[in-house]
Amino acid sequence: MSLAGFLKVWASEFGFLPERGVPLAPYTSIGVGGPAEMVFKAEDVDSLVKAIRLALEHGIPYTLLGGGSNVLVPDEGIRGLVILNRCKGWHMNGGDIYAEAGMPFAGLARGAIQAGLAGLEWGVSIPGTVGGAVVGNAGAYGGDTASVLKSADLLTPDGHRETWPVAKLEYGYRTSRIKEALARGDRWVVLTATFHGKQSNRDELCRLADGYLNHRRETQPKEPSIGSTFRNPPGDYAGRLLDAAGMKGYRIGGAQVSTRHANFIVNLGDATASDVLALMEEMQHRVQEMFGVALEPEILVLNQRISESADGQIKSGVGR
Ligand SMILES: Cc1cc2nc3c(=O)[nH]c(=O)nc-3n(C[C@H](O)[C@H](O)[C@H](O)COP(=O)(O)OP(=O)(O)OC[C@H]3O[C@@H](n4cnc5c(N)ncnc54)[C@H](O)[C@@H]3O)c2cc1C
Repeated sequence: MSLAGFLKVWASEFGFLPERGVPLAPYTSIGVGGPAEMVFKAEDVDSLVKAIRLALEHGIPYTLLGGGSNVLVPDEGIRGLVILNRCKGWHMNGGDIYAEAGMPFAGLARGAIQAGLAGLEWGVSIPGTVGGAVVGNAGAYGGDTASVLKSADLLTPDGHRETWPVAKLEYGYRTSRIKEALARGDRWVVLTATFHGKQSNRDELCRLADGYLNHRRETQPKEPSIGSTFRNPPGDYAGRLLDAAGMKGYRIGGAQVSTRHANFIVNLGDATASDVLALMEEMQHRVQEMFGVALEPEILVLNQRISESADGQIKSGVGR
């Protein structure tokens, strides 16, 4: 790994350098976490691919961030290159809806509704990008990504482009082959995705979408959060178990179990990632003790700690 070599080739390819030591909290929905060693905002798919291939060639670790609505960035920050995916192109062709992975998923769902295409209307309530939804099989109100996705263009862990039909993504509840691979350290990147919508009544789709959004407003916290902290265990709800365990309102530092929804952790203003992690542990511990159920995190804790930085220029603990 050579950071100097990487930066030299980067400058000649892009004509500028990645930003250094950028705080990542503003790029996450909960507003928590330390800085990235380097940040690049990718605005088109070719630049995204080029950046990843350069990182791979030089052994620089990289992390992709979409809307940052399903991740916890550690207080120590993230080592290597963080790529903010802002590739937002999209278009429709008949019932097919094609989108680059940095497109906000809720915006895409609105676009499909406007065109009278059914299948994505639950998506108006989902924060984050198309890429994040494809990776995590985002879903709500009985719908999910797996049911409407046709195929995805991916970058393999060694930098090759491949198109996968939906079946190859091996979707499960809030997971996919890509998310499972990520947990083992293999990074597949979603570049674009093609969905299929069924021709339907536009007004009816609007009515459904508005109902979903209203339901969210009534049942979910208004403070910044990462959405559902834990997956629902088979046959039950994490929120119900946490509520019954008396966790609503429980607070560690600036992080609190929402008083509205016990599976949401909210940032009261000055939460750190350590507060959130400590709270998650307490929530798991209480539910295990009272009900014998092991809650599994739904959110992803990013773990390329900046304290391991190659050039040692950015020290740990720089974030809030
Ligand atoms: C208030 C709130 C409500 C929510 N409600 C729901 C809900 O009802 N249903 C639901 O499913 N989720 C929900 N979520 C969680 C979140 O919105 C989804 O998981 C969303 O799909 C994440 O997308 P993102 O772009 O923010 O992903 P990020 O948080 O940016 O990334 C998530 C993971 O995917 C990786 N990743 C991101 N983009 C790509 C890509 N293009 N290629 C490869 N890897 C990538 C990241 O590296 C990271 O590991 C909610 C979140 C919040 C804050």
